[in-house]
Amino acid sequence: MRKIKAEIINYSKMLNSRKLSALRSGNISARYKDGFLITPSGKKYSSLKNKDIVFVSLEGKFDKKKGIPSTEWQFHKDIYINKKEANAIVHAHSTNATAISTHKRGIPSFHYMVAMAGGHDIKCAKYATYGTKALSKNILSALNGRKACLIANHGQIAFEENLSKAFELAEEVENISLQYITSLKLGKPKILSLKEMKKVLSKSQNYKRG
Ligand SMILES: [Zn+2]
Repeated sequence: MRKIKAEIINYSKMLNSRKLSALRSGNISARYKDGFLITPSGKKYSSLKNKDIVFVSLEGKFDKKKGIPSTEWQFHKDIYINKKEANAIVHAHSTNATAISTHKRGIPSFHYMVAMAGGHDIKCAKYATYGTKALSKNILSALNGRKACLIANHGQIAFEENLSKAFELAEEVENISLQYITSLKLGKPKILSLKEMKKVLSKSQNYKRG
């Protein structure tokens, strides 16, 4: 457990240093036993210690004496319940992904790397107040067949089989978001066809298997 906590702290600090989220916004978790370990509520990542990382069960229970989890623990729980392949989640308020999300729009196949999120586009979950069951529901629907999505007027979320991959995917979503915003400055970008994206997706799945 100590090793996973240290890893969560390490990647939380990287949320700041890689400019994915400032100060204490965003949150990170990793599946552990019949629940998950998650960053605490309201603490700056730079000051995090192992004892600050909170365990939450898949029933949503935690020991308040041991710490209060991030106020956004609900959607982490619901992703772990609904996505068996999810072992780690990175949620960030990264600038470019958030900027697109405030227009309540996702990212189309303007670049083949969009397939990194698991489909031909990256969806944007509908807005709901942070920490609510309603937001979880919207996120799960945007994650249908995907490993990452934007969250309207909020940010982005990415999950993977481990923390290093989840963090990399969140960084990729932020990078794609910047590229998409930049391409929009020149007008409407040409979108790759669904047929082409299916080719890319089958290539990347073969790549994963190989
Ligand atoms: Zn958030």
